[in-house]
Amino acid sequence: VSRVIPVDTFDLVIFGGTGDLARRKILPGLFRRFRSGQMPAEARIIGAARSEMDDAGYRQMIREAIAEFGSEEKEDAGGIDAFLERLHYVAIDAMGEGGWKQLRDLMRDGVVRAFYFSVAPSLFGALAERLHEHRIADGESRIVVEKPFGRDLASAKALNATLAEHFDESQIYRIDHYLGKETVQNLMATRFGNVLFEPLWNSHYIDHIQITVAETVGVAGRGSYYDKSGAMRDMVQNHLMQLLCLIAMEPPSTYDADTVRDEKLKVIRALQPVEPHQVVRGQYDASQDGPSYREDAENPRSFTESFLALKCHIANWRWAKVPFYIRTGKRMKARSSEIAVVFKDLGHSIFEGDTARHRNILSIQLQPNEGMDLQVTIKEPGPGGMRLVDVPLDMTFADALGPDQEAPDAYERLIMDVIRGDQTLFMRGDEVEAAWAWTDPIIEGWEARNDVPKLYEAGTAGPEDAMMLMHRDGRRWREIK
Ligand code: NAD
Repeated sequence: VSRVIPVDTFDLVIFGGTGDLARRKILPGLFRRFRSGQMPAEARIIGAARSEMDDAGYRQMIREAIAEFGSEEKEDAGGIDAFLERLHYVAIDAMGEGGWKQLRDLMRDGVVRAFYFSVAPSLFGALAERLHEHRIADGESRIVVEKPFGRDLASAKALNATLAEHFDESQIYRIDHYLGKETVQNLMATRFGNVLFEPLWNSHYIDHIQITVAETVGVAGRGSYYDKSGAMRDMVQNHLMQLLCLIAMEPPSTYDADTVRDEKLKVIRALQPVEPHQVVRGQYDASQDGPSYREDAENPRSFTESFLALKCHIANWRWAKVPFYIRTGKRMKARSSEIAVVFKDLGHSIFEGDTARHRNILSIQLQPNEGMDLQVTIKEPGPGGMRLVDVPLDMTFADALGPDQEAPDAYERLIMDVIRGDQTLFMRGDEVEAAWAWTDPIIEGWEARNDVPKLYEAGTAGPEDAMMLMHRDGRRWREIK
């Protein structure tokens, strides 16, 4: 039985519709939703970008993009033709006057209007203004904006103010695709849908939390962009802090966008400041497999971090003295993202000769595959007496739920949420600002003293100092695999 419920009919305009993100993620994702029956047959997708092109040219471009970046689409050529018929194209320069009338004529009344700003943030203001000036957007329309949302608190505030001139907060969908992952939502279901976890979800039973987002790729190809950013701005301020919020937040009273986001905001506000010198910063060195960060970034004197590890605390009753360790890096050992909730050791073992440490660990994997498991201690099977062994209890339940329940990719799920008008998995303006308010002093501290990141060998788990950060506390990082 399919549980896919079609969304309302929509006109979705993708500014930057010819760009990398649109071709790699947005349109292949929309095609999957079309195939699943969730996208109504009358829905329309309008690509808008600077290049001169007609509908046929755009359809061909997207056909090729889906063949290249889509997953299982190739076998169903019929489906793709019907999907491509839903596509239109208008040549528009965000800063110019051409194309707007044509766009307005394409938009239909009585359907959901959404505008995806898949362009550089410097164009957001111009787009918002022109959408209003040409009476294309109204009080019901929705806009979707991509990261980066600012590069510090001041620029994020300015961006929020620009958007607020033309759109109400309830119309603005700031995407963080980490929140669109099935497992991230499953984390909330696990916490708040079971009696088993929430009673233990506090400093009495949890020893510490680890969040790791490791990538194997370097910054080649986007080095000049990344070099102005670094791991704190590019990964921590948004993705890792969002994950931390979902782990640490108090139970919201309802699963409603503002109630959930209120609780997330409280977590960010309760984060204790971290001293700049307490953060481990790293930069990958040249190896047999590739050039150094500085070569990739084309900046021989770059002090930007491609790796970062830090320990932080949330100053509230629930999390008193529980450390949160977070790390992220490029050119690491494996592509792997995991949140690990490490419970405390047993106070006492009744089993003679059992000297091993047994602890429960709830592991939430986001990449490369999504899944959850709970490490539990059981008796080692066989006649060897009462010997204990720790094994993972698989909580992915793919078998129980069947193949039909295959998770949609984060982007496609989030776009459908936009059409449905559900902001729960999008960042609110005040959350983004609070996150910058926490990271800004750390980044400013590094800049003020020209902090030099430690070199680390590509294909490893980062600099030695990151290991020390844990070892000093008598703990160790989970293996990146
Ligand atoms: P891109 O350079 O590949 O594409 C940019 C698009 O914007 C093109 O379609 C181009 O025609 C259009 N454009 C540029 N100037 C324009 C103008 N003046 N008027 C109208 N259209 C114009 O960029 P991208 O990688 O697709 O990224 C788009 C946005 O998404 C950026 O803000 C980026 O930071 C963000 N983002 C991208 C990725 C990714 O994986 N590519 C991931 C996260 C966030």
